Amino acid sequence: MLIIYSLIIIITFAIFGFLILDNYRQNTIKDEESTLFQIANIISDTYKRNMDDIIFSRIMVKTYGHQFNARILILNENKEVLIDSYNSYVGKKLNNSEVRNSLKGQSSSGVYTLDGGEVLQLAVPISISTGIESNILGSVLISKSLGYLHEDLLNLKRDMLRISLLALFGAILLTWISATGITKSLRTLIKGVEKISSGHLGYEIEGGGKGEIGKLISTFNNMSNKLKNIEANRKYFINSISHELKTPLTSINALIDSLSIGNNSIDTYKEYLEDIKAETERMEALVNYLMTSIKLEDISLDLDTYDIGEIIDETIKFISPYANKNQVEIKSEIQKGIMIKLDRDKFKELLLNIIDNSIKYRDIGKSNSYVKLTLEKSRDKLLLIIKDNGIGIGEKNLSNIFNQGFRVLDHNKIEGHGIGLTLVKNIIDKHNWNISVESSLGLGTEFRIEIPLV
Ligand code: ADP
Repeated sequence: MLIIYSLIIIITFAIFGFLILDNYRQNTIKDEESTLFQIANIISDTYKRNMDDIIFSRIMVKTYGHQFNARILILNENKEVLIDSYNSYVGKKLNNSEVRNSLKGQSSSGVYTLDGGEVLQLAVPISISTGIESNILGSVLISKSLGYLHEDLLNLKRDMLRISLLALFGAILLTWISATGITKSLRTLIKGVEKISSGHLGYEIEGGGKGEIGKLISTFNNMSNKLKNIEANRKYFINSISHELKTPLTSINALIDSLSIGNNSIDTYKEYLEDIKAETERMEALVNYLMTSIKLEDISLDLDTYDIGEIIDETIKFISPYANKNQVEIKSEIQKGIMIKLDRDKFKELLLNIIDNSIKYRDIGKSNSYVKLTLEKSRDKLLLIIKDNGIGIGEKNLSNIFNQGFRVLDHNKIEGHGIGLTLVKNIIDKHNWNISVESSLGLGTEFRIEIPLV
C-alpha cells in the first residue's frame, strides 16, 4: 500500500514538475522575444533616420547589444552585414529564414541550438514608407544566447526536486502513521468479532476515539451488549417456560399416580380428571403463548380505515368484566370520529395486552386502582395514553420490557410469559407508529402511543 502511495506521489510530482518547467521556459522565451522585438523596432527606426551617420549607428547598435547582452546586426537589402555589434560579420552575407522574412516585410523569430546551447534569433525589416507603398532597405537581426535560461531551469529543477522529496517524505510518514493506526484498530476489531463468534457476548473493545474507526468500535460495543441482552432474555424465557411446563406436568403425574393406587370411586376419578383437565388447559394456554411468540416476527396487517375511538370503546367494554372482578376501574376520555388506517384485530390485541397488564400489575395496597385511557389529537398526530396507578416498573427494568421473554423478577407469582409487550411493540412497529413508556415504582405506569396523521 505504502509503495503504491509513494508511486502515485512521485508520478504526480514528476508530471507537475515537467509542466511547471515547460511553462516557465515558454514564458521566459516569450518575454525575451517581445523585449527584443521592441529593441529591434527602435533600432530599425533610429537607423532609418540616421542612415547617413554610420558612426552614430554603429555606436547605437553596440550600446543596445551591450545593454541587452545580445548580438545585433544591420543588413542591407542584399543580405550583406553593414553593422555588427561584434564587428566580425561586417561585409559578410547572411541568409537565414529570419533575414529572408524580414526582407519580405515580415518580422519573425526562432529558437535554435548552436554549439550545444540555445539561441533566440529574430529579425525586423527596415522600411521607408513612400505614402502608397513601403520600400525595404534592409533588416535588423538580433541573436541572443539563452544559456542563462538553461541555468535558471536547472536551479528551478533542483529546488523542485528538493521540495518534492520533502513532500514525499512527509506524505510517506503521514501515510505510515495513519495506516499503522488503522491496522491496529482493525486488529482489535477482528479480535472482538472472534470473541463474539466464540460466544463471549458482551465483549467490549477499549478505546476507540473519534472518527470513522471510533464510530465502528462504539457500534461494535453496542451490538455486543445487545447480543448479550438478547441471549440473557432467551435463557430467561426458556427457563421460565420450562418451569411453567414442569409444574402442570408434575401435578398430572402425581394425579395419575394417585389414581392408579387402590380402588377409587367414580367420583374420585371424575374429580382427579377435572384437575388433570385444568392442568392441561394451563399447558395449552402456555403453548398458545409460545406459538404467538414464534409468530411475532411474521405479523402482517389487514389495514382499513376505522373510527379509532369506537374500537377503543369496544375493547374497554370487552375487558370491563375482568377489570371489575379485580376491582380496577377503567376510566376513558376518548374522542369519537377520528378515522385512522389500522388493523382492527391487531389494534384490539395491543390494547387488551396493555390494559390486561394494568389490571395484572395493580397495587393491591391501593383501594382506588384504575387504568385511564385518553386520546388527544394535535395538528400532525394522535396520542393515545394508557395510564395506571399500579405497582410501576423500576428504572433498571424499564428499557427491557418490550424484549421478548422479559419479566420483572420480583413478581414471579403473577402469571405471564413476557410476550405481551413484545407483541404490542411489533404491532406498533408494523403500523409505523411509536410507543414510549414512563413508570415509577409504587406510583404507576404510563404508555404513550403516537399515531402520525399524515
Ligand atoms: P408478562 O406476560 O410478564 O405480563 P409483558 O410483556 O406483558 O409480559 O410485560 C413484561 C413485563 O413488564 C411484565 O413482566 C411486568 O413486569 C412489566 N409490566 C408491563 N406492564 C406493566 C404495568 N402496567 N405495570 C407494572 N409492570 C408492568
